[in-house]
Amino acid sequence: MLTHFINGETVPSINGGSFVLDQASRAAKPIEVTRGDAQDAASAVESAAAALPAWRNISSQERGRALQRVADALRADIDRFAQAESLDTGKPIELSRAEVTGAADYFEFYATLVNLPVGEVLDIEPGLHVHTIREPYGVVGIITPWNLPLNQAARACAPALLAGNTVVLKPAEVTPTTSIMFAELCKHVGLPDGVLNVVLGQGSVVGTAIVEHPTVSKVAFTGSVPVGRTISRVAAERILPLTLELGGKSACVVFEDSDLDLAAKEIVRAFTTNAGQVCSSGTRLLVQESVHDALVGKIVDRVKALREGVDVGPIITQQQFGTVKDYLQVAEDEGATAAVGGSGSAVDEAGCYVAPTVYTNVDNSMRIAQEEVFGPVLAVIKFSSEDEAIALANDSDFGLAGGVFSHDIAQAMRVASAIQAGQIYINSWSTQSVQMPFGGHKLSGYGREKGIEAVNHYSQVKSVSINLGAVTA
Ligand code: NAD
Repeated sequence: MLTHFINGETVPSINGGSFVLDQASRAAKPIEVTRGDAQDAASAVESAAAALPAWRNISSQERGRALQRVADALRADIDRFAQAESLDTGKPIELSRAEVTGAADYFEFYATLVNLPVGEVLDIEPGLHVHTIREPYGVVGIITPWNLPLNQAARACAPALLAGNTVVLKPAEVTPTTSIMFAELCKHVGLPDGVLNVVLGQGSVVGTAIVEHPTVSKVAFTGSVPVGRTISRVAAERILPLTLELGGKSACVVFEDSDLDLAAKEIVRAFTTNAGQVCSSGTRLLVQESVHDALVGKIVDRVKALREGVDVGPIITQQQFGTVKDYLQVAEDEGATAAVGGSGSAVDEAGCYVAPTVYTNVDNSMRIAQEEVFGPVLAVIKFSSEDEAIALANDSDFGLAGGVFSHDIAQAMRVASAIQAGQIYINSWSTQSVQMPFGGHKLSGYGREKGIEAVNHYSQVKSVSINLGAVTA
């Protein structure tokens, strides 16, 4: 049975109980997982609190070296981690390998930041010395979704640990395995007991308990808008700082002067990677009407060449598969036309596979253009002018990512500046770099992960002023 990892030990739930993973049919035998509750969450928080003084007070170089050892160990163990991730999620093994490498990259990147200066000296007036320092929050709760389980855990854990916090991590119910393996690996390379704890169970039980726990000083949540709202309500009572990394319905704008072959290649990648189960998927294509047919033709050709199970894996669970299937029906009922895929041809019930689907004849007000599907579905919408493209891109409750394809760099820069989203890709989609800050506008959330910026969200500034006139030798 897969159990919690608390204070350096694997432990079952205090009150017993377990559940079997939804996607267990992919495994040789059913995977049983301990079902945690508020008591287990409290035990994990207490363990993190006990480990905090020692962890925050060691030298930052020593913390950096620990993070580097984690990165090295992950790279050395990539096969085992990638296999476990593919088993939990169904994703193609090469994608899992890339995500494990990405997880190691986070730890490596934040390990190097220990050498950066962390405060400022403020020149205010003679006789007054003012400086700022950054301090950890304390115990940080990190709640992650199922689409990139280890990668997103690492994305949040690495800067949180670097900043001197200790962590209680709660992975999604259906993808607990690599988070537990990761905690074991961290212990193996010398991370002190209690610095990273993992507690398993339902979000509404264990996740809530973490957010409500008075000792938790900061929560970083990656997941859906409804759960983000629920957490925000609890946090409002506690005045608890949050990072919210939520969903998206990101638009890619293609102007008529673009390299259409490049645009087609990037757009297919944008909406089919991880079977579209990526928050920053490019799922709305806004295309200038003069090149609409040519671009759609190129996209359709590329989609037809994708190989099931190699380029595009299954949808993670029967439940999510049902959601994606329903959206195909919704799109068609609204009048969209499937240029490839669609409800008739697109599904494999047993394997949870949805063939990548491209809808044309879409109006931006349709549900297929406004709601996050979290499957490989692209909605194509025509525009005639730059102003119209910007208005359509911003006619969305979300604001996670955006793309612009244009040979006119001035136009591309204007549109990039006008799109309300946390990251914009020009003449590409989804630049993946640990250095590039990542986060949302509007319903896509607030706060930032990745880059140096993330460290600012896992630490708080203290200003210290010294009256030099009162200093005695
Ligand atoms: P989800 O919101 O259902 O669950 C996310 C996590 O929250 C899980 O660990 C879950 O157990 C936990 N949870 C559920 N209810 C909770 C509660 N009441 N209190 C505390 N925790 C609770 O999301 P999901 O279905 O796992 O993931 C898909 C969503 O995540 C999509 O909307 C996607 O866009 C978003 N996402 C965003 C990013 C980003 O960086 N912006 C990255 C990946 C996924």
